[in-house]
Amino acid sequence: QHQSQTIRADSGCNNSVTTSLVPIPPYEILLSLQSQSLDGHLSLKDNEGAAKDFGNIHHFPPLAVLHPKTVSDISRTVKYIFEKGTDSEVKIAARGHGHSLQGQAQAHQGLVISMESLRSPEMKIQTGEFPFVDVSAGELWINILHETLQYGLAPKSWTDYLHLTVGGTLSNAGVSGQAFRHGPQINNIFQLEVVTGKGEVITCSENRNADLFHGVLGGLGQFGIITRARISLEPAPKMVKWIRVLYSDFSAFTRDQENLISLKDNTFDYVEGFVIINRTGILNGWRLSFDPKDPLQASQFHSDGKTFYCLEMAKYFNPDEAEVMNQGVDHLLSQLSYIPATLFLSEVSYVEFLDRVHVSEMKLRAQGLGDVHHPWLNLLIPRSEIHNFAEEVFGNILKDTSNGPVLIYPVNQTRWNSKTSFVTPEEDVFYLVAFLTSAIPFSTGENSLEYILNQNKRILDFCTNAQLHVKQYLAHYSTQEEWQTHFGSKWGAFEERKRAYDPLALLAPGHRIFQKAM
Ligand code: FAD
Repeated sequence: QHQSQTIRADSGCNNSVTTSLVPIPPYEILLSLQSQSLDGHLSLKDNEGAAKDFGNIHHFPPLAVLHPKTVSDISRTVKYIFEKGTDSEVKIAARGHGHSLQGQAQAHQGLVISMESLRSPEMKIQTGEFPFVDVSAGELWINILHETLQYGLAPKSWTDYLHLTVGGTLSNAGVSGQAFRHGPQINNIFQLEVVTGKGEVITCSENRNADLFHGVLGGLGQFGIITRARISLEPAPKMVKWIRVLYSDFSAFTRDQENLISLKDNTFDYVEGFVIINRTGILNGWRLSFDPKDPLQASQFHSDGKTFYCLEMAKYFNPDEAEVMNQGVDHLLSQLSYIPATLFLSEVSYVEFLDRVHVSEMKLRAQGLGDVHHPWLNLLIPRSEIHNFAEEVFGNILKDTSNGPVLIYPVNQTRWNSKTSFVTPEEDVFYLVAFLTSAIPFSTGENSLEYILNQNKRILDFCTNAQLHVKQYLAHYSTQEEWQTHFGSKWGAFEERKRAYDPLALLAPGHRIFQKAM
């Protein structure tokens, strides 16, 4: 039953390219790759792990996995396959930490490049007026945090979860509660080194090979494999005041969120939010490690049977600034219209705050809930449509259960660099709404994969029929027409870049955007 719920390589999906009359079988090409001298190594068996990802829905095994030690391992390998021309059917997927949701880092019968093996060069930090860190793209963000903190510095923009690679998040966007101030992670990069689909190694930035630089950021791995990144840093705080408050009125909740992200200075460093739906199920515990500001009032607060909206905020500080920080926070909180009994506060270290999701993940794993299916749905919704969306989705489709946390927070579109490949809704403010659902294998009914996929479809159908102009984040489509619609006016440039940097369409086949040589 488990197999019938998931999409496996033998289920009829065809990713192959055949432009030559007599294509060389992929296995032969990959076998012949062994003759190349590499600093790392190529593995031709026991590669099942590369057919798995966090989504745990798609399983497409590769024929080989490259564990590169150097950038030249990657460029030599890509070049070798590129030079076979259209006679080759081998596709190549860079794999970061494998936290994709729908097989995006997989290459059916092809080659997976395990980017975490690429640990050279070592992380190098530059202090000064515009501090930065140079890292291998296979590096995990959590390691970058620990390393940069030794210099009192840290990246500005994060994801909620830090056990993801730099290459993996930069291929998408990298969004969290800091994005309203700093933009997504792709906006905080000074320079990249990229191996294109022809095997060339190119350094690029805003001023040098800018077309490739912008293309690769948010480019879903379509134009090259990122091998190095230069990430902008800022002074790191030691502590974080972490605050949660509840609303029962959606309009008051979004009004306060939008006000907070519109303030230029003296606002929070992080603004997110989530929806608490009646009987939200086992995965949605929100009060963990928080103390109520007024325990007496809090004990009188009953939440049964209603939908609530939790506004989550954080203010960074150093211990000697606590008094000023508390005054600033009190001032900001005094302008909000949350339910007074629901002010929950916590003070944690900066690392504890940033690594918060990992802690929850470890708890779920300990309960045996790590290997469930994750049919997540992430949407970007224009501000003007968020009420319409909430009324139908929270008031109807998800009225009774959500099968996991539902995040909702606004960001400023002006903080997103429109030159990158990433597409956003065309409004000055848009919301990220993330349905982080889990489906239990072998279950039926509300916890099953089928039920949640159907629920996702109802949400998407509603967005289309009501013409909400929503964009998917971490999107996955089956046809090029759907991708064309997704990219809208950016599609022409996207296609042009594919032709320039990966003309044989070797790279990142898991997205199913380009299936043939251009
Ligand atoms: P992989 O899954 O290994 O790869 C993802 C894609 O990037 C694939 O197409 C792959 O081919 C490509 N790729 C990987 N490395 C490279 C490279 N070096 N060069 C070019 N292409 C490459 N996203 C957010 O924005 N904000 C969040 O808060 C957030 N939280 C998350 C929490 C969890 C628990 C999970 C599972 C995901 C979360 N994500 C979030 C999504 C996450 O950012 C993406 O799924 C990301 O791609 C995962 O990184 P990875 O290293 O696992 O990449």
